[in-house]
Amino acid sequence: MKALVAVKRVVDYNVKVRIKADHTGVETANVKMSMNPFDEIAVEEALRLREAGTVEEVIAVSCGVQQCQETIRTALAMGADRGVLVLTDAELQPLAVAKLLKAVVQKESPEIVIIGKQAIDDDCNQTGQMLAALLGWPQATFASKLVIANGAAEVTREVDGGLETVKLKMPAVVTTDLRLNEPRYASLPNIMKAKKNPIDTVTPEDLGVDVSPRLVTLKVEEPAKRQGGVKVGSVEELVGKLKTEARVI
Ligand code: AMP
Repeated sequence: MKALVAVKRVVDYNVKVRIKADHTGVETANVKMSMNPFDEIAVEEALRLREAGTVEEVIAVSCGVQQCQETIRTALAMGADRGVLVLTDAELQPLAVAKLLKAVVQKESPEIVIIGKQAIDDDCNQTGQMLAALLGWPQATFASKLVIANGAAEVTREVDGGLETVKLKMPAVVTTDLRLNEPRYASLPNIMKAKKNPIDTVTPEDLGVDVSPRLVTLKVEEPAKRQGGVKVGSVEELVGKLKTEARVI
């Protein structure tokens, strides 16, 4: 069976994000970009399934500008077999990405789609859920363990206050949480080898998908600066401040 993984190009998690001067969004010019960390976990999980003999082929898909090819190359260097770039300069919101992924799924017929639970740039946490709904497939979000056997996926999910284990019929959509695995680094020889792996490029028009945004961003602002702390002299003073100033007790 085939596994399809989605890999989004996002501002690297080590970069201190800056707001554009006109408050329309986040500055991405001259900023280091990387694969969304949850997507690295998705790639790793698909590779482990292939190494276990459950999956035969791992396809990495990215939607966005030409440079998303680099993100696909990273997935290929980690070990994915081939890539699909859905090329567009349009601003992509989760519903548009879900529709694009659905179209790629219909072309490729994977048995499992593994994607990040959320992208660290928009923090939407929507794409996997929307994709499962559009495909009419079962979904398990926030996976911390995935076992595939007898045409079903058993997924342990991180939920508030514990773990929940669900069983899904395949084909299914699974979204990754941090503890699912520790992604491998791409070795230098593999980075060189990955340059030869094929990447198909398609456009939203080729896939018949309208990607026009459905939401308008009104304003993006930095969080309020944190106030400096104060040192209190005694427990009584602390309790007094919590009561009268912070009003939390
Ligand atoms: P989000 O719903 O935006 O938080 O994203 C959740 C997941 O959807 C990400 O971790 C990716 O796996 C996938 N995804 C979102 N946007 C894209 C994109 N432009 N290209 C590829 N995958 C994406």
